[in-house]
Amino acid sequence: MGRIRVLDRVVADRIAAGEVVERPASVVKELVENSLDAGAQTIVIEVEQAGLRLIRVGDDGGGMDPDDAPLAVQRFATSKIASADDLERVATYGFRGEALPSIAAVSRLDLMTRSPGTEAGTRVSVEGGGAAMVRAAGAAPGTVVAVADLFFNTPARRKFLRSPAREFALITDAVQRLALAAPGATFRLRHEGREVFVYPAAIPEERLAQVLGRDLAEAMTAVRGGGGEIAVRGWAVRPERARPSRQLDYLNVNGRPIQSRMLSRAVLQGYTELLPVGRFPLAVIFLEVAPHLLDVNIHPRKLEVRFTDDHRVFATVARAVREALLAPGAVRHVSPLVLPGEIPAPAAGREEWQAETIRTSSGAAALGSAIEPAPVGGVAEAPALYAGRGRLPPLRLIGQILRTYLLAEAADGLVLIDQHAAHERVVYERLWREIATGDVAAQTLAVPQPIELNPAEAGVLDEFLPAAAALGFAVEPFGGATLLVRAVPAALARRDPQDLIRRALDALAEPADGDDARRRLAIATACHTAVRAGDALSAPEMEVLLRDLTATEDPYTCFHGRPTMVWVSRPALERWFLRK
Ligand code: ADP
Ligand code: MG
Repeated sequence: MGRIRVLDRVVADRIAAGEVVERPASVVKELVENSLDAGAQTIVIEVEQAGLRLIRVGDDGGGMDPDDAPLAVQRFATSKIASADDLERVATYGFRGEALPSIAAVSRLDLMTRSPGTEAGTRVSVEGGGAAMVRAAGAAPGTVVAVADLFFNTPARRKFLRSPAREFALITDAVQRLALAAPGATFRLRHEGREVFVYPAAIPEERLAQVLGRDLAEAMTAVRGGGGEIAVRGWAVRPERARPSRQLDYLNVNGRPIQSRMLSRAVLQGYTELLPVGRFPLAVIFLEVAPHLLDVNIHPRKLEVRFTDDHRVFATVARAVREALLAPGAVRHVSPLVLPGEIPAPAAGREEWQAETIRTSSGAAALGSAIEPAPVGGVAEAPALYAGRGRLPPLRLIGQILRTYLLAEAADGLVLIDQHAAHERVVYERLWREIATGDVAAQTLAVPQPIELNPAEAGVLDEFLPAAAALGFAVEPFGGATLLVRAVPAALARRDPQDLIRRALDALAEPADGDDARRRLAIATACHTAVRAGDALSAPEMEVLLRDLTATEDPYTCFHGRPTMVWVSRPALERWFLRK
């Protein structure tokens, strides 16, 4: 048996720091929160090497007196609460007094501060959680905290970090979330000496446009609901502009940006039946909850809160989002092209759309019971996933059903093909082959198209540019946050280049899981370019798709792992019809 020892303070602080300071973005978040708590009107964030070399946050807030400044880097030293009771009604971002000491435990921290009323400035320096060095120093009113060489004494933690581009994207995200929560302050973010963005103090609507881009902000509809103990306001994207990759929420509770699966589900619930397939919500939500219904002290990085009544909160948010989306003018269905002789597509109006859905689904149900194969000998044979390997046998096209599946005859049975999954496979293999052989066919645009990038998009640009070039995009930075598109892969020439690029950038901002950027771009581009379920296809289009699919190396699955086809064999048909 070993002997139990109390950890020495420096080690204990480093462990505690691990909970607060997970990555550079956590440092940025804590420092910016402190600036906001100090009443800053302008906050300047400077970053070098994605925050590992340097994070410097300067503000024009209330600063600290010479007596207070050394206390700021001590554990559990805070000016924001005095007693446990105060925890019930925290009105500041900070309240634990843990951030600065935790950061100082795993970096070289240097703090300069002066409160506007005093002559004397103070400088406090701490290295790796050691003793603080305190000096009088000339300083402007406000506070500047510089954090250098993050994790220099905890190398293990560096191993858990993602690529610099990704870490910087997380920093950008942290600042943007706080900027949305505090529109009245000016935020400026610089990386490697370059300006990433400036958001001048603004009204909330304008801040939304600064952060998400004007184009997207205009595609959002105002959310407002509840009242009294639980009130909600914010914005939700109109369904036709919903995101292609994953749900994105900016959630705030009593002014604090948080994460909450429950609230994200509530947002999603508000979109029920309004989202096109494969599209996801984007929402900015501000909840105001009576303090007695809320506990903010449950998460080391203050990223989560607990509500005493989840159900009420859920219902309030879901209803407010839904009402906003159903308000006149908010929902516009994008209906697929109707060809002569086709089953009418969902019509523009919502009521008609619902009526149509009900009619077709009850019709299908009646039809279904009539044709469902009776079990033979107690067992009905289910159609099998096509289990082949290698190339597809020749197929004869029969047609399209439900605007989603192609029917084809193979030598020994019937094949049903999911048109989207199959087309994804075709486009993806084509792009990937071109990348591999370096033989990319590009189509030059008649007029180069500028694209205004938001910071998250700009954050993955270093990764994007070489991968995009390999795919046949010709894009170049064009001053500030603008990208100029000169050419796109020939295979995608008919698509809106702006849309293509945005989706590609989006795909790179997702967690990577080891896939290289070119592959992720090829996948995202293929997925976006492929025909969708619900798209009517002409006979020649279907023939081409079948022929192309037959030519692919792995025709049986799409890269999401879904099957591209199912197979009804001759023996299965024979058993269904009691022929054998
Ligand atoms: P907390 O924010 O939970 O109080 P911190 O460790 O983040 O804990 O900060 C400790 C204290 O240092 C704060 O309570 C505040 O008094 C002071 N402080 C930190 N940053 C600033 C700043 N930018 N301006 C003024 N005071 C600050
Ligand atoms: Mg703090």
